[in-house]
Amino acid sequence: MCYIFLLNFCLFLMASTLHAQGLLDALSTGKTRVIDLTYPLNSKNAFWPGESYNSFKHEVLASLEKDGVYSGRYSTPEHLGTHMDAPAHFEPNQPTVDKIPLEDLVGLAVVIDVSLKASASGGDPDYRLKVEDITEWEKRHGTIPQRAIVLLYTGWGRRWADYGRYKNADENGALHFPGFSRESALFLSDTRQVKALGIDTLSVDYGLSGDFPVHHIFNSRGRWLLENLANLDKLPPTGATLIVAPIKIEGGSGGQARVWALIRE
Ligand SMILES: [Zn+2]
Repeated sequence: MCYIFLLNFCLFLMASTLHAQGLLDALSTGKTRVIDLTYPLNSKNAFWPGESYNSFKHEVLASLEKDGVYSGRYSTPEHLGTHMDAPAHFEPNQPTVDKIPLEDLVGLAVVIDVSLKASASGGDPDYRLKVEDITEWEKRHGTIPQRAIVLLYTGWGRRWADYGRYKNADENGALHFPGFSRESALFLSDTRQVKALGIDTLSVDYGLSGDFPVHHIFNSRGRWLLENLANLDKLPPTGATLIVAPIKIEGGSGGQARVWALIRE
């Protein structure tokens, strides 16, 4: 039993290594398309509208004209712009952002498109991904592989330039944007064993959520999340490899991440 498991695991590692090697070879010969899933950081970036959160700030400390060298400094909440929620974000005794093993930060991307269902014109801005949406997706593209990174494309990136429209608060301050449902998160984490989720909104839990079940389900299993991803409309449903590079803040609950996809042509 144990031996078979080990053998399978070795085969899996060999296949992943060969896949990664092929991808890197193709990158050097220009046969790999690279898509940046990261928004540039600036003072207009969306951030979780919690108490004592603030916008991104950057100031110049020295300039080439005056000082002969250009440098600056910045300040930001961890959960602003394109960023990672480390497992420690919602759960005790889970890794902070600096403790996530680097080998965990590469994976196959699966993209599920709910942009029509969540659109403001005819759709539901409070839409939550259903398990049936996933099984429908699998009928067309095959079973989601273990340790994949599942990305939910909601179309919310079209609102990115306007923080008001992006968080979409009503007159009572309640937020309206789509996300994963509790049931879909449980299915993806426990039945499909995916290692991470990502989304093109402020949160993997939909805007109206008060108890953040998707965060708890993933973080309690030691798994991380990506929020405010850019360019999800440019990714195929399968076939992209994601590289995730979060900032290494010691003890951080998460932080800004450069996220990009490699697609073999
Ligand atoms: Zn976050």
